[in-house]
Amino acid sequence: MATVSVLIPAAGSGVRLGRGPKAFVRVGGKTLLEWVLGAFAWADEIRVALPPNVAPPKAAANVSFVTGGGERQDSVARLLAGARGEVVLVHDAARPFVVPEVTDRLLETVALSGAAVPVVSVPDTLIEPEDGRYGPALERSRYALVQTPQAFFREVLAEAHQLARARGHYATDEAQLVKMLGYPVELVPGDRRMFKITYPEDLALAEALAASWRV
Ligand code: C5P
Repeated sequence: MATVSVLIPAAGSGVRLGRGPKAFVRVGGKTLLEWVLGAFAWADEIRVALPPNVAPPKAAANVSFVTGGGERQDSVARLLAGARGEVVLVHDAARPFVVPEVTDRLLETVALSGAAVPVVSVPDTLIEPEDGRYGPALERSRYALVQTPQAFFREVLAEAHQLARARGHYATDEAQLVKMLGYPVELVPGDRRMFKITYPEDLALAEALAASWRV
C-alpha cells in the first residue's frame, strides 16, 4: 500500500461557532483535534496546522505541527510543503467523526485514480432565495455535499496548489483546485456522521453522537 500523510488544517478561529480555537473545543471529553488524531493514528504521518500563538499539544511520534496561514488553503499549502506520503488525505479538524469505511473507500479509489472525495446527498429542498423570499428551487438530486477527508496523490495536489498560487485562486476545498488543474476527481459515498462542526447547535449533535461512538 502507498504511504499516507494526513494533513489537518486546524488553524480556524471558530468565529461561527462562537468559541475557539475550534480544534480545541471539547466533545465527549476530548478536543476535536484529539478525535481526529485518534482516527488517523494508523497513518505514516499526521501534519497539523495550528493557529499562531497556540502551543502544540502532546502527541504521538508520527504527529508534527506547523503554524497555519490566513485562509484554510494557506494552511493546507504549508502542511503539503513538508509532507512525504505518496498519498495525502486532507481532513478538517472540525469533523471529529471519521467513519473507517469511508476512509477505506477513499484509499481504494485514490490508488486507481489519484483523486477521490466523499459526498452525501442533499436532504432538504434546495432553493435560491430572492431578496429574502422563496426563489427558484434547484433539483436537489443533481447536487451533492462534499466532505473530508479528501484523498490525492501528493504530487497531483502539489501541482494543483502551485497553479492556484500562480493564479491567486482560493477555494473552500482541495478538490476544486485539483479539478481546476483539469484532473478528474472521483466521488465515493460519504457519511452524514462526518458532518462539520460549524455552528453552536452542531455541538449538541456532536455530544450525542460522541456518547455512542465506538470506532
Ligand atoms: O472555516 P471552515 O469551517 O471552512 O474551516 C475548515 C477547516 O479549516 C477547519 O478545520 C479550520 O480549523 C481550518 N482552517 C485553517 N486555517 C485557516 C482557516 C481554517 O486551518 N486560516
